[in-house]
Amino acid sequence: MPTPNNQNPLPYYNAYGPWLRKKFDGQKVYKVIADAGFTCPNRDGTKGYGGCTYCNVDSFTPTLTRSLDTIPQQLLASMARARGRFGAEKFIVYFQPNTNTYAPVEQLQSLYDDALATCPDDTVGLAVGTRPDCLNPAKIALLESYTDHLDVDLELGMESIHEDTLRKINRGCSHAELVRLLDSLSDSPLHLCVHVILGFPWESRDQMLAYADEINRHSAIGFIKLHHLHIVKGSILGAQYQKNPFPVFDLDRYTDFLADFLPRLRPDIVVQRLFGVADKELLIAPDWNLPKAAVQNHLDRELTARSVIQGSQCHR
Ligand code: SF4
Repeated sequence: MPTPNNQNPLPYYNAYGPWLRKKFDGQKVYKVIADAGFTCPNRDGTKGYGGCTYCNVDSFTPTLTRSLDTIPQQLLASMARARGRFGAEKFIVYFQPNTNTYAPVEQLQSLYDDALATCPDDTVGLAVGTRPDCLNPAKIALLESYTDHLDVDLELGMESIHEDTLRKINRGCSHAELVRLLDSLSDSPLHLCVHVILGFPWESRDQMLAYADEINRHSAIGFIKLHHLHIVKGSILGAQYQKNPFPVFDLDRYTDFLADFLPRLRPDIVVQRLFGVADKELLIAPDWNLPKAAVQNHLDRELTARSVIQGSQCHR
């Protein structure tokens, strides 16, 4: 039976926290968010208007970053907070909100350079979230150019592996486009992370479990973020849900799902996140009514008790 990362104190899955600690010799490394005010082609009319139906960009952007002007100001405030609250020692600058490669490459370089120059001695990584259709060879080369001294994570929105779902959620980008990009990055020094959403109401359990098999197929994928579907205010799906509510994951059903999903996932894939976290003010459903740490504790306890092991039933 494959075994996950032996350094992991929660041995049932290959968790990001222990992976980071091992990679950076035990130092406390935190991500700090840079909001460069990007939009995305699914909002400005290039691919569509209104965005993906589940999206309200404010639901994944901390208020702290939105209230400040420049990227260095945002980063300095977030770094000070992380040092004070969590004893953070090193940082990964994370361009998170919207589509962070949706600009000419010269402009991207200037933004990334400014961010990385804010606190260079304590910055160990750059993470950039984007869509597969907003990259080109010049942008990839720019990101790769930072890998000579930093870890560079390229976080790609996969969301679903099913083209029908991607059409239904108005994604404006196909799974086939993502696959072409992954194939082109098979030898890249970038760390590739895919972001997936579990719980679209029309997807069956088997269709969701098939995400693991599809992800396993792509050796370029080294990291994953799992996100259960959130229905948030200000999104198209939110309006649909309020008119005609549909089933969403409760915590017990999501735990059951992970108990089947994690064993199918390749053991070497580092799981950056097991579940989604949304701003409580914006969240419509599902409201698990628990702090993030309590949800993590619940999953750790339940999945360990069930002897779940990431990769123990991995199909390749
Ligand atoms: S999820 Fe990403 S790509 Fe979709 S509308 Fe929101 S910011 Fe744009």
